[in-house]
Amino acid sequence: MPEAQPDRKPLSAPQKALQKLGLVRDIDLALHLPLRYEDETRIVTLRGARDGQLAQIEGTVTHSEISFRPRRQLLVTLDDGTDTCTLRFFTFYPAHQKALAVGARVRVRGELRGGFLGWTMVHPAFHAAGGELPDALTPVYPTSAQLPQAYIRKAVASGLKRADLSETLPPALLGGLQTVVRGTWTLRDALQYLHHPGPDVSLDALEDRSHPAWQRLKAEELLAQQLSQFTARQERAALSAPALRLLPGGLHEQLLAALPFALTAAQRRVGEEIARDLMRQLPMHRLLQGDVGSGKTVVAALAAAIAIDAGWQCALMAPTEILAEQHFAKLIGWLEPLLAPLGKRVAWLTGSQKKKQRTEMLALIASGEAALVVGTHAVIQDQVQFRNLALAIIDEQHRFGVAQRLALRSKMGPDMPDGEPHLLMMTATPIPRTLAMSYYADLDVSTIDQLPPGRTPIVTKVVADSRRAEVIERIRGQLAEGRQVYWVCPLIEESEAIDLSNATATHAELSQALPGVLVGLLHSRMPVAEKKAVMSLFTGGQMGVLVSTTVIEVGVDVPNASLMVIEHAERFGLSQLHQLRGRVGRGAAASACVLMYTPPDGGRLGETARERLRAMADTSDGFEIARRDLEIRGPGEFLGARQSGAPLLRFADLTTDTHLLDWAREAAPVMLAQYPAQAERHIARWLGGKAEYLKA
Ligand code: ADP
Ligand code: MG
Repeated sequence: MPEAQPDRKPLSAPQKALQKLGLVRDIDLALHLPLRYEDETRIVTLRGARDGQLAQIEGTVTHSEISFRPRRQLLVTLDDGTDTCTLRFFTFYPAHQKALAVGARVRVRGELRGGFLGWTMVHPAFHAAGGELPDALTPVYPTSAQLPQAYIRKAVASGLKRADLSETLPPALLGGLQTVVRGTWTLRDALQYLHHPGPDVSLDALEDRSHPAWQRLKAEELLAQQLSQFTARQERAALSAPALRLLPGGLHEQLLAALPFALTAAQRRVGEEIARDLMRQLPMHRLLQGDVGSGKTVVAALAAAIAIDAGWQCALMAPTEILAEQHFAKLIGWLEPLLAPLGKRVAWLTGSQKKKQRTEMLALIASGEAALVVGTHAVIQDQVQFRNLALAIIDEQHRFGVAQRLALRSKMGPDMPDGEPHLLMMTATPIPRTLAMSYYADLDVSTIDQLPPGRTPIVTKVVADSRRAEVIERIRGQLAEGRQVYWVCPLIEESEAIDLSNATATHAELSQALPGVLVGLLHSRMPVAEKKAVMSLFTGGQMGVLVSTTVIEVGVDVPNASLMVIEHAERFGLSQLHQLRGRVGRGAAASACVLMYTPPDGGRLGETARERLRAMADTSDGFEIARRDLEIRGPGEFLGARQSGAPLLRFADLTTDTHLLDWAREAAPVMLAQYPAQAERHIARWLGGKAEYLKA
C-alpha cells in the first residue's frame, strides 16, 4: 500500500515563477534589483508639466463619455485646477466608468502628451484621490509573464526585510572599502536604497551604477568572487602533485631536435613557464592562450614529454573526435618514434570506438604502458583507470564544462592516491590579459603572442549574399592554383533540418558550378566513419571544396586550404568567426576569408551583427577580437558563457569597476587569513551553492 504523503501545499504559479528566476532564499530576493523606478511620490500640476513627462496628477472628473470615433473608447476629462487633461481608455469595464464618473476625485499616473487639443493620457493607472503619497520611488523589477509586478514587489520587500544583511566585513577592511565606494554605506543601507530610493535621487547615478550604493554592492560581489578564487587557490596549495624534472638529454630534448621547425620565442617562453610549474609539488593550474595557429600543440607535446620522461602518464583531451584525431596523428608522428625504444605507447579513446579496441586501450592505460592518452570526453569516463596520471591537458577548454574538468583532476591513479595531476588548459579565444590576471586569482596564464614565421596575413572581405557568383569565381581561381576551399554554413540548433537543407543546397550548387572538382559535405548528423572519410579526402588534397555545417569540427589543420567562405556570417559569434578564419592562412600561401551576409528581407543587418563583421574586417589579432567581443557583449556575458557556463558577475563591470576589483583583490587574502568565519559567511551569502562550481 502506498504510504500517505505528508500534506505539502503545491507551489502557486507565481511562487513557481519566482523559483524559476532563482529567487529562492531571502537574500536572493534582496539582491534582485529594480530595472527602473516610477515616481509616485509627487503630484504635478498640469500647468507645470512637460510634454512626454511620466506624471502623476490629481483632479476632479468634469466629463465622461463613450465615443465611437475612430473606435470605441472611454473619454474622461480631468480638471486639476490649473488645466484639464483628457484620459483615453480603449478597453474598459463598467467599474472603470463608475470610478471615473463625473464629480469623482481621482489620482492618475501615465505619460502626458501635450497637443493641439490639450493634454491627453492614454490608459493611465488611476485610483481614488487622497491617501498618503509614498516617500520613495516605486521599483519596477525584472520579471516574467507569470509573475505580476505587484507580486514580485511584495516578495522582494519581504525578502529584503527578512534577509540577514549583517556586516561581513571586519572593521579593519571597512575603512578601505569606504574610501573606494566614497561613502559609509552598509550592504543593508545600499540595498534598502536601491530598492526604494528617495524622490530626490539622481536617476543618472542609479542608472550608470556610479552611485555609492551601487559601488558598495559591486565591491561586495567582487569580494565574494575573489574570496572563492583565493580559497580555491589555497585548497590547491594543500594538494600535491608529482614534481616533474626536465631530464638533460631526455625526451624533451629529443623531441625539440626532431621537430621540423624551430620554436618561436613566445613558444619557448611559455614552455619554460610550464616546465617551472611542473617542477613544483603543487598542482599546476595554467591557461595557455594563443591565437589560432600560434602553435599550442607543440608546446603541449613538450610538456607531455617532460611528464613521460619522469615516468608518468599524460592525457590530452579535445572536444571533438576529429580534433582529437588530429592531435593523435601529430603527437604520434612526433612522439611515437621516441617512445618506442622506451617500450611505451600512445593510446586513444573516443566514443565511437569498437568495444575490442576500447578494451585493449583501457588495459594499456591501466597498466601504464600507454604513456600518452589522447581522446575526447571518453577519457574522463569512470571505466578509465590511469596508472599514474601526472599531467592533464585540455584543448579548447571553454568547450568543456566545469564538471568535466573536475573529473579529469580526480584521475591521478594509485601511485599517488592523495595527489592531483597538473592541469594545462589551452584556448584560442583569449581573455584579455589584464582581465585574466586580475579576475582569475586561481589561474596562471601563459600567452603565446606571436605567430610562427612565414605566415601571410589573411585578407578578410565582407560581402552581401547577392554577390555569390563573384565568390564562386574566386573559388575557381583558388582551385586553379591548386589550393583548397572551406565553405561553412551556420548551425542553428533549433532548426538543424533547415541548416542541413541549406548546406545540401549549397553543396549541390557548388558541385554544379565547379565541374570536375570534388566537393564534399560534412554535417553534424553524419556517422563518425563517414565524417572521417570526408575529412581524409580533404586533408589528403583530393577534395577541392569542403562544405560544412559542423563549425566545431572544422577545427582542423590543412595548410593547403587558402580560402574560407562563411555563409550567413551575421549569425555567428565573433570568436566563432575568428576561429573559423583561423583554419586558413596556415601555410605560406596568401589566404582570404569571405564573410557573406544576408540582410533580413528588405532590411539592414542589426547593429551588433554589423559591429561583429566590421571587427573581423578590421583585425585578425585574436586579442583585439577578444577586446571587441568584450565591448560588444559586456564582460559578464563574456566571462560567464565562455569560462564557466554560468554567469559570474551580475552587478560589477570589469571594464569600469577596476578600482573595486583592485580593492577586492587586496582585501580577499587578508580576510581569509584573519577573518575566516566572516569570509565564509560572505561567500555563502553571495554565491550560495555556486561556490564549489567557481573553482574549476
Ligand atoms: P594552435 O595554436 O591553433 O593549436 P597548432 O598547434 O595547430 O596551432 O599549430 C599550427 C601549425 O603551425 C601546425 O601545423 C604546427 O605544426 C605549426 N607550427 C607550430 N609551431 C611552429 C613554429 N615554431 N614554426 C613553424 N610552424 C609551427
Ligand atoms: Mg589547436
